Amino acid sequence: MGKNVEIKIAANAGFCFGVKRAIDLVEKTLKEKSEVYTLGPIIHNPQEVKRLEEKGVRSLNDVDCVKSGCIILRTHGVSLELRNRLEKNKTVSVIDATCPFVKKAQDIVKDLSLQETTIVIVGEKSHPEVEALVSYGVGKCFVIESRNEAFEFKGTGELNIVSQTTQTPQNFNVIVEILKKRFKVNIYNTICKATLERQKSAEKLAKKSGLMIIIGGKNSGNTTRLAEICKAQTKTRHIETVDEIDDKWFENVETVGLTAGASTPDSIIRSVERMVGDILGC
Ligand code: SF4
Repeated sequence: MGKNVEIKIAANAGFCFGVKRAIDLVEKTLKEKSEVYTLGPIIHNPQEVKRLEEKGVRSLNDVDCVKSGCIILRTHGVSLELRNRLEKNKTVSVIDATCPFVKKAQDIVKDLSLQETTIVIVGEKSHPEVEALVSYGVGKCFVIESRNEAFEFKGTGELNIVSQTTQTPQNFNVIVEILKKRFKVNIYNTICKATLERQKSAEKLAKKSGLMIIIGGKNSGNTTRLAEICKAQTKTRHIETVDEIDDKWFENVETVGLTAGASTPDSIIRSVERMVGDILGC
């Protein structure tokens, strides 16, 4: 196995602007404050979250159990109700690491909530970003995940359609086209540039590879979407760390492509690259 096997890394892989910014904010805060908390995981990568925990960051599920220190808000944003509660709490300081692209989507939904129209969010219902977006729509939001749900949607009047920042343009466009046939729609495509770049370069590499390895949190929406895109092109495996790699995957493969979600640290990408190189003897 391996003599002429090539390992290629996608042109856009790993940490995006929003995640880098959030990690930098955490590292800076750790130097300045003694009690540092995040509300839920700061990003969707268990290994990076563990690294920060080892440096002293504690992850909370409930803000009410904290009476002092500093709470850092995650890249995916928090609900309007929680933001209001935190603003009233004068004993803890709050640092907002919400990605500016997520914030932009929240602001759009907030503005649209002032109109007498329905807001449709194309995204995953249980994802924290979508849950927060829904809260900004104050009772006027519906979430649609799939084309089937778009066909079954029973709204009335005009629809304002907004996207989760990490959706694929394909899923967003398919849902928009289905809704357009029955409703007057206004489209707000809030898929972020980093997501688009990672998806495009993953697809391009998958087309030329016998095996794609996608590295990133199993709880990461954007990483899961990269795996789905690559699966449509070639044999694909989604892993979090080198421990999940199986030698058998590489049998009869001439090109191995690697890519990683926007919340995957470079150190993990490099460790996977080294391990694959060792297995293939190249
Ligand atoms: S994937 Fe996009 S929206 Fe999400 S944190 Fe990165 S830059 Fe922000």
